[in-house]
Amino acid sequence: MIRGHGDAAQLAVTDVPAPVVSRPSDVLVALRAAALNHLDLWTLRGLPGLALSFPHILGADGAGVVADVGSDVRRVRPGDRVMLNPGVSCYRCADCARGDHSLCESYKLLGEHVPGTFAEYIVVPEQNLAAIPALAEGMAPISWAEAAAFSLVTLTAWRMLVTRAGVRPGETVLIWGVGGGVSLTALRVAKLCGARVIVTSSSAAKLAAARKLGADVTIDHATQDVVAEVRTLTAKRGVDVIVENVGAVTWERSLKMLARRGRLVTCGATTGPRVELDVRRLFWYQWNILGSTMGNAEEFGQIAALLGQGQLRPVIDSTFPLDRGAEALERLGRAEQFGKIVLEL
Ligand code: ZN
Repeated sequence: MIRGHGDAAQLAVTDVPAPVVSRPSDVLVALRAAALNHLDLWTLRGLPGLALSFPHILGADGAGVVADVGSDVRRVRPGDRVMLNPGVSCYRCADCARGDHSLCESYKLLGEHVPGTFAEYIVVPEQNLAAIPALAEGMAPISWAEAAAFSLVTLTAWRMLVTRAGVRPGETVLIWGVGGGVSLTALRVAKLCGARVIVTSSSAAKLAAARKLGADVTIDHATQDVVAEVRTLTAKRGVDVIVENVGAVTWERSLKMLARRGRLVTCGATTGPRVELDVRRLFWYQWNILGSTMGNAEEFGQIAALLGQGQLRPVIDSTFPLDRGAEALERLGRAEQFGKIVLEL
């Protein structure tokens, strides 16, 4: 938990009363692992408009064993091994009824708006759970760390590329900063869609690892001119889809590389939220600029089914015990990781 906003000095491990099932659709999960996301760093530092009561528990991603269920719960039973969808909705309003859970007025993220997964227990609605799939014989079973690391980045990348950008076989996709969790998963989702994928990083080791995961072209954005490279690679045409979460620093270059009818899909603005757009280029090139965040219960079901086929298994960078959580967050803050950093509970 964190005592207040700030840096890792605000982190502490303490005993708090365990949450209990209070609504009929609630499920109590005994967590076994929880994965870190950049969201945890933003929440620790303090986000504009985010009013938390302290102490607050961070953590959006988690996996564990069902410990108790409310009277209406039908999807899971005590003892089931489950992973969590980090976005909690009311599941009753018109938006929820249409399946647009992330548009729900009461949509909240675990660890950002409500207590999260860096804890031994959490209570969530049953709609936020999926069984950890059993894999075919001969395949290594999904570990707690993999199950915990799966949801947020896979759901985010899936909605960006499949639901929003609608990537088709043979299209070219460019992904900035492939070391990040969403970007790395976006590479794998784009390959699953049959796209040709160009990725960037400033780390030769991360680019080499991305090639092993299927990247067709890698560009070092610290030493190479990404726009010029992409122009050459695409015979000046540009790329069909750009996956952004960088914001201010890459935006202008992204638009310079976007083909006619291209789609730019963004889920973040790590270097700043203010960007410029020449509306004449937007209509003349018939671009789509797409915002995307998280995913709904249907998309969560789709990605869980893929995991059950052994697809999109998370890349685990490292695991830490909960009492070394500060060290884990610092590793994430320094962007040293390739894949997910996981806390074992
Ligand atoms: Zn709702």
